[in-house]
Amino acid sequence: MRSLKGYLPKDAMVMAKKKSKNSKAGAPIGIPAFSTLAEVHASLQDCKRCKLCKGRTNIVLGEGSSKPTFMFVGEAPGAKEDESGRPFIGRSGQLLTKMIEAMGVKREDVFIANVVKCRPPDNRAPRPAEIEQCKPFLEAQIKMLKPKVIIALGATAAKNLLCTKEPIGELRGKVHSYQNTKLIATFHPAYLLRNPPAKKDCWEDLQFAMKEIGWKK
Ligand code: SF4
Repeated sequence: MRSLKGYLPKDAMVMAKKKSKNSKAGAPIGIPAFSTLAEVHASLQDCKRCKLCKGRTNIVLGEGSSKPTFMFVGEAPGAKEDESGRPFIGRSGQLLTKMIEAMGVKREDVFIANVVKCRPPDNRAPRPAEIEQCKPFLEAQIKMLKPKVIIALGATAAKNLLCTKEPIGELRGKVHSYQNTKLIATFHPAYLLRNPPAKKDCWEDLQFAMKEIGWKK
């Protein structure tokens, strides 16, 4: 597995050396109570809670500031992310980085994570059972990071965080609340690569998020 050095806080590096006690594939979730982000990340080392563990190269925990104003949540790692252990570094990631910079923020000053931390085979969408096993770790990350606003990238992130079946088109353009944190839904960068005209709509969503928290470039 890729070294965690460089994208986890120092305290996470210490905790990451301790492996999870509950590491059998398909085992009950058994999520412990966390008090730090480092504990959340440490508990994921060698995770085998769902079948996605079988095909992964690296667990993609997420990366960025430990005190982010903006937290971006996508669906799942792709091939490049699986290879490197870092989120959003392929073509979608490059577009996401441009979007973040257009907001007047550096990529390292936000936090970027996914609903599931391991790559689904052939880049298929994560299955409900996989999301159910992994989502508590995303929830714990959000709880520890305390972003001012969560930007859900695409339907999988938005629907699962908001526990709704509404389509992304219905979820856009509204301020949602995720456990008292504002949440704005927009399109996934992979969708924007396939549908460039939707970049304008996404930019409107990001501006909406900035306005909601009084963020000025
Ligand atoms: S996707 Fe999440 S729950 Fe499943 S094995 Fe990976 S880290 Fe564990």
